[in-house]
Amino acid sequence: MTSDHHAQIMVKDLTRIYTTGDVVVKALAGVSITVEKGEFVAIMGSSGSGKSTLMNVLGCLDKPTSGEYWLAGQEVSKLDKNALAEVRNHTLGFVFQSFNLLARTTALENVELPLLYQGVGGKERRERAVHALERVGLGKRMDHVPSQLSGGQQQRVAIARALVGAPKVILADEPTGNLDSRTSMEVMKLFQELGKTGITVALVTHEPDIAEHMSRVIVVKDGLIVEDRRQTPKEAVVPPLKEEAT
Ligand code: ADP
Ligand code: MG
Repeated sequence: MTSDHHAQIMVKDLTRIYTTGDVVVKALAGVSITVEKGEFVAIMGSSGSGKSTLMNVLGCLDKPTSGEYWLAGQEVSKLDKNALAEVRNHTLGFVFQSFNLLARTTALENVELPLLYQGVGGKERRERAVHALERVGLGKRMDHVPSQLSGGQQQRVAIARALVGAPKVILADEPTGNLDSRTSMEVMKLFQELGKTGITVALVTHEPDIAEHMSRVIVVKDGLIVEDRRQTPKEAVVPPLKEEAT
């Protein structure tokens, strides 16, 4: 089934109910959102509000209990495991707080990995991984393993890994949660550059300083959207290193 709607993400009356013994938790209690191509959405809300549950459903890692989910024009809420994996591979890219890179594995190999799982041949795999690393400014660090890279560089490798499958949507769960403020700005600047190429980003953050660089802020509370506002994103500017300033 497809839709002629141009939204990249369209969810309607989405619920996700967890039942553990006698305890029933409505982690998502009826969420409707439409995200257009190129939008930069910050998802905010206190702990336990339902942010991760929402991201897991949007990321096709979990299925909603009820409701519709249209991703890039395809209704995906009722697909089976294999079909969901296919959608993840070709439509979505993921970035995590903890980078999730393989240690003792070079940046290049880390970025090639999703393509390896998809069965892309060696030569094409390498070319696409090199291109993705160049896009995030790490063309000269491709043979470094994670321990030889700074936190910001590791997150850029993770972003290259997310980009290598040519996703339409990038989902990021607190991507700057482990980074200092300067490095966080590097990452936000990179996201903003990607945005100019039409990629859609949904990013969970606790930090208003991060959310101000997004074009839209959605606040979740008790499994419901309690605020949804569009804004002019503040341009991410990376302050010079102290060493360079003196
Ligand atoms: P957030 O990411 O905003 O902190 P979550 O989406 O992780 O919130 O959780 C929302 C609610 O759902 C919380 O009350 C949480 O305890 C509950 N919850 C999350 N995951 C599960 C699960 N696997 N089983 C049962 N309850 C869960
Ligand atoms: Mg969470």
